[in-house]
Amino acid sequence: MLGMMQQRPLLLSGLIEHAAAYHGDREIVSNMVDGSMHRSNWRTVCSRAKQLANALQTLGVQPGERVATLAWNTHRHLEMYFAVSGMGSVLHTVNPRLFPEQVSYIINHAEDGYVFFDTSFASLVQAVAPQLPRVKGFVAMCTRAQMQGIDLPNLLCYEELLAAASPTYQWPTFDENTASSLCYTSGTTGNPKGVLYSHRSTMLHSWTACSADGLGLSARDSVLLVVPLFHVNAWGVPYAGAMCGAKLVLPGPGLAGENIYRLLREERCNFSLGVPTVWLGLFDYIERNQATLDLSELVLKRVVVGGSAAPRAMIEKFESLLGAYLIHAWGMSETSPLASIGNLLDKHQGLPLEQRFDLQVKQGRAIFGVEIEIFGDDGAPLPHDGKAFGDLKARGPWVAAGYYRGEGGEVLDADGWFPTGDVATLDADGFVQITDRSKDVIKSGGEWISSIDLENIAVGHPAVQEAAVIGVAHSKWQERPLLLVHAKEGQTVTREDMLAFMEGKVAKWCLPDDVVCVDSLPHTATGKLQKLKLREQFRTHRLPTDPA
Ligand code: ADP
Repeated sequence: MLGMMQQRPLLLSGLIEHAAAYHGDREIVSNMVDGSMHRSNWRTVCSRAKQLANALQTLGVQPGERVATLAWNTHRHLEMYFAVSGMGSVLHTVNPRLFPEQVSYIINHAEDGYVFFDTSFASLVQAVAPQLPRVKGFVAMCTRAQMQGIDLPNLLCYEELLAAASPTYQWPTFDENTASSLCYTSGTTGNPKGVLYSHRSTMLHSWTACSADGLGLSARDSVLLVVPLFHVNAWGVPYAGAMCGAKLVLPGPGLAGENIYRLLREERCNFSLGVPTVWLGLFDYIERNQATLDLSELVLKRVVVGGSAAPRAMIEKFESLLGAYLIHAWGMSETSPLASIGNLLDKHQGLPLEQRFDLQVKQGRAIFGVEIEIFGDDGAPLPHDGKAFGDLKARGPWVAAGYYRGEGGEVLDADGWFPTGDVATLDADGFVQITDRSKDVIKSGGEWISSIDLENIAVGHPAVQEAAVIGVAHSKWQERPLLLVHAKEGQTVTREDMLAFMEGKVAKWCLPDDVVCVDSLPHTATGKLQKLKLREQFRTHRLPTDPA
């Protein structure tokens, strides 16, 4: 017997309509590409999204057609999130930090009909345009006056398109399984692969983000969205923010510590999200200017950190300097991305800080909607004892079933699990801890050493800005850890100093065999340490412990 409830498709247009109707005045603040501040609200985002949908229809954009963006976090990019998906087309957010060849590969692979871009990416777009035969037009996301000097075929102006379009638009109704957005994974090896989200998957994910033990996002939050809108749907916050009517503060290209601090202070942000690198920049700024800053001006209470492991030192600093709780989360493009979130249980209330930090270092527990499990080499599930580590797999209604246009072939196993490529432990309460990406784990003799563990300890050293650990060939042990450190400005560290600092904090046999100080560390387009490049660079590094 079927239930007798209404069948209303879960469509993203419903989110922006709701935000406009119930949270119309709630602000959307943008730090624009030219450095100016722009103030909008959910009502205006909705009416401009409708103008944009009309404009796209006039341009002939079809349902299902992909529309690319190369853009920072601003109100215009947010308008595109709702306009493009709402009209039944697919928003393809392209990461502008990728190499030009990757950008053109992705745009061609997605067969994007139009490319929208911020003026700061004009030279990138001009460089790749000749390789994009399918693109029908390029739209500069600015006013006509700001377009001077941009030279592209079929160049259009975002503000002119909107000015010529009516704000009256009826969002179409269609199947909730229709594709809504497309995002390519950076693909450290091989070509980038597209993850194609649906209206339904995105909506279910938004409810989770708003739930108390999800991200707990609400109408009372002022959110500084540091995660770029070109990273995995900016972790779902544009949609969840519309669902609950949160104030959104969009930093544009202003991701340096000083600007993050200013926005937190001026916009009274109590909630923020970003990858660890951004927070290293914020703390660097705070520490260098501690004498003149009044930290009590900040009202930051919760910070979601993911994308790479949040080191313990960062968790402690958020607590001790700002009184803010770091919510450590894990996920990936293929999981929309929220999969596990570091909220505490009732029994953890009132824990001494040190013990609380022990829990926060882990990447949280699976949220309802995502199942996670760890498997050994024989394919059998491993015990949840916080010690056994194995391949982490995930499944659920916002986990990818495959890649766009069949890239990578069949990706799910016979039981519907998606292999994440991460190695992890699970404890008795279900807290997951990422040991490493499987390709980054250091195989020393028969044992595995977690590069993340060593990096987290190394960045606890007061003179260290950032650290990376890679496996280097060793004649006896096969591979041993090499620590690369980037010292804070004006500070120096030595090999002996680092090894002495780390001793006792990790089993002796896991300690790095060597330490090299570097001027900077390479990052991927999503702000992660580029281990592949480091492994190439140090491939012939001779470890002092190697007898050969
Ligand atoms: P890409 O694969 O393109 O770099 P993703 O955002 O999909 O981009 O990356 C997901 C990966 O990032 C995960 O598989 C995991 O290795 C890593 N990751 C994400 N969050 C965390 C975290 N909190 N701690 C450790 N690693 C993380």
